[in-house]
Amino acid sequence: MAIERTFSIIKPDATRRNLTGQINARLEAAGLRIVGQKRKQLTEAEAKAFYAVHAARPFYNDLVAFMTSGPVVLQVLEGENAVAANREVMGATNPADAADGTIRKDFAESIEANSVHGSDSPENAAIEISYFFAGCEITS
Ligand code: ATP
Ligand code: MG
Repeated sequence: MAIERTFSIIKPDATRRNLTGQINARLEAAGLRIVGQKRKQLTEAEAKAFYAVHAARPFYNDLVAFMTSGPVVLQVLEGENAVAANREVMGATNPADAADGTIRKDFAESIEANSVHGSDSPENAAIEISYFFAGCEITS
């Protein structure tokens, strides 16, 4: 198995409820190491660009408003098969469909305010990491 990196966001619904430590404990228990981390208030332009792939979806404007409604924690995670491992511990997009023991099952408020983001492929992970982090800000 390959050591991989993925991009993670702790979303505003979770920072608002002071859940960053509990969420990161789940990520670490799943074998993921936080090798880059910063707390940030996203601008509208940053949120729009990050979720540009969803620009045509009916929920896009609401999603951008939600992602800029409070601070987020941007993270680079490293571990074996990190992309898939992170998606597994996150759970399904809609908390109603998420498996027991997953972050979204236990913490998400709704399909939109679902506490965490995780890259969906190694290719997108590389794009997302480089959007928010300089190489010198990541260290294993
Ligand atoms: P993410 O990309 O945030 O890790 P995901 O890959 O599970 O989540 P996507 O389909 O990429 O899901 O959707 C991106 C985000 O858009 C979701 O995490 C959620 O916040 C929001 N979203 C997705 N579907 C809906 C919907 N039907 N209604 C409202 N918001 C939605
Ligand atoms: Mg996605």
